[in-house]
Amino acid sequence: MTTTISYHERAMELHRRLLVIDGHADTLERVLEEGHDFLEPAPDFHIDLPRLLEAGVNCQVFSLWTPPDYQGERATTRALAMIGAVLEMQRKRADLRQVMRASDLDASRPGFCFAFEGAEPLAGDVALLEVFHRLGVRMVALTWNGRNPFADGLKVGASPSGLTDLGVELIARMNELGIVLDLAHIAEPGFRDALKVSRGPLVATHANARALHDHPRNLKDEQLKAIAERGGLVGVTFVPSFLARGGADLEDVFAHLDYMVRLIGEDHVALGSDFDGITALPTRLGGVQDLPLLTAMMLERGYPEARVAKILGNNWARVFEEVWK
Ligand SMILES: [Zn+2]
Repeated sequence: MTTTISYHERAMELHRRLLVIDGHADTLERVLEEGHDFLEPAPDFHIDLPRLLEAGVNCQVFSLWTPPDYQGERATTRALAMIGAVLEMQRKRADLRQVMRASDLDASRPGFCFAFEGAEPLAGDVALLEVFHRLGVRMVALTWNGRNPFADGLKVGASPSGLTDLGVELIARMNELGIVLDLAHIAEPGFRDALKVSRGPLVATHANARALHDHPRNLKDEQLKAIAERGGLVGVTFVPSFLARGGADLEDVFAHLDYMVRLIGEDHVALGSDFDGITALPTRLGGVQDLPLLTAMMLERGYPEARVAKILGNNWARVFEEVWK
């Protein structure tokens, strides 16, 4: 009798045993806006705690994204409300752990940390960064799509600007505090400036390859290479419009992931789902519970376990370790 262990069973086993880290999800926006009860099964959303546990995710990065009409102190209050919502969850579920330092990463337990997707919650005051750092903000994208006091996002129009003086100051403070710089939404001039003025590894939390699909949120080969040269990573993302024209499938996610692995190496590609930040997902990838299907596809296409381990979590862990100090 022969025993055949399916790729999916192997994937599930890896998710239980290895570190799994997702670099970007907007679940807290859904918690605030739609009353998403994260602790109970909630199939209308992409992530809830039971499914996070099922998929063996050990650090979910929760974005503190603020809507464009939330400016100044309103954005600050909004971000604090998101953090407050998580504190409330933790009161009910002590096993939901906040990852504050790299040594908190634990392949056997669920955890989370916070990130800015646009530094609007600072309300233009770099001094507030240390306060948010104390609260657990460990990664910062200077902009979302628009213009703010720090830089231009990639949807400001035909001739975006780079970093402002305040943006340069913010990155210097991030370097001092040990906060990861995320270049996902910044316009190209800001991307180039940020490479010059920052130290250490930097990332694009959720972006794909422009060479495979020409979308402004996807990164050109030279940008992918620049991130890799700095020891950083790119989180492959599941946003269908970033993956392919007219709808996407799990296969397209693998195609972008595989392209980036071939171009910049297995040390520089990781996960950056954008779960709960988008309404539609690729077919065969309906939420966090389906992450092992992507892992199974990696195994099926001949990825060795060591490479899968890097993509699932070890690359994020390496960047966190290096930057968080
Ligand atoms: Zn985004």
